[in-house]
Amino acid sequence: MNNNYKLTLIKKSNQTCLQLRYKTQVVRNWYGRFAELIFSNTLNIKQAYTQNQHSLYFTKYQIQSLFTEITCLYQFINYQLKIDKDLVLENFPNKTCHVAEYLLFQIRINPIHMAHDDLLFYFLEEHNHYDISIFDKGINLLVGNNLIQMIITDDGEQFFDKNSKPHDHIYFKEHKTLVDCSSEISNMFSGIKLVNQPIQKLGNVYTINNEIF
Ligand SMILES: [Zn+2]
Repeated sequence: MNNNYKLTLIKKSNQTCLQLRYKTQVVRNWYGRFAELIFSNTLNIKQAYTQNQHSLYFTKYQIQSLFTEITCLYQFINYQLKIDKDLVLENFPNKTCHVAEYLLFQIRINPIHMAHDDLLFYFLEEHNHYDISIFDKGINLLVGNNLIQMIITDDGEQFFDKNSKPHDHIYFKEHKTLVDCSSEISNMFSGIKLVNQPIQKLGNVYTINNEIF
């Protein structure tokens, strides 16, 4: 048996890529949280494969079943996160539906508030026939239909939030990380008048400039 196919999980700062190679040729890449889930799912069910911590090896026949498993995993997550259901309800135009589905899937599957640049990078890597204007159109449709919200920080960074209801955030400037802020912490910040940038009705973003962790 020739294990000529190699699946490798590559992590660089906040970005994750799962790469499938046949010998030296790249066959397919997956990005973001979905890439991590494919890898951990495959590790769990394919214990018998030759493996190390970040790479798995496959024969041609095993690759065919891997693609079936990935399709099933995608459909399962899509159903759990109500991606198709919400897009159908909002009546998205057919042409943009595929783009909107990809973006909403990436934003909802991600446990953190996704940075604009990371999502754009994933989008362009996986759709090399599209450009940034299609990305912007998809995002505007999702925001316009209240399926996500976009948060802009005081240094101009943009983040996407799967929770479209107004709520407060804390922004860690050094780490370029945005997290939800409980009402208890909001009250504390309002009390001590920390740098506070109100964004109309979407909620406040409290910026923390210092390195604290
Ligand atoms: Zn949030």
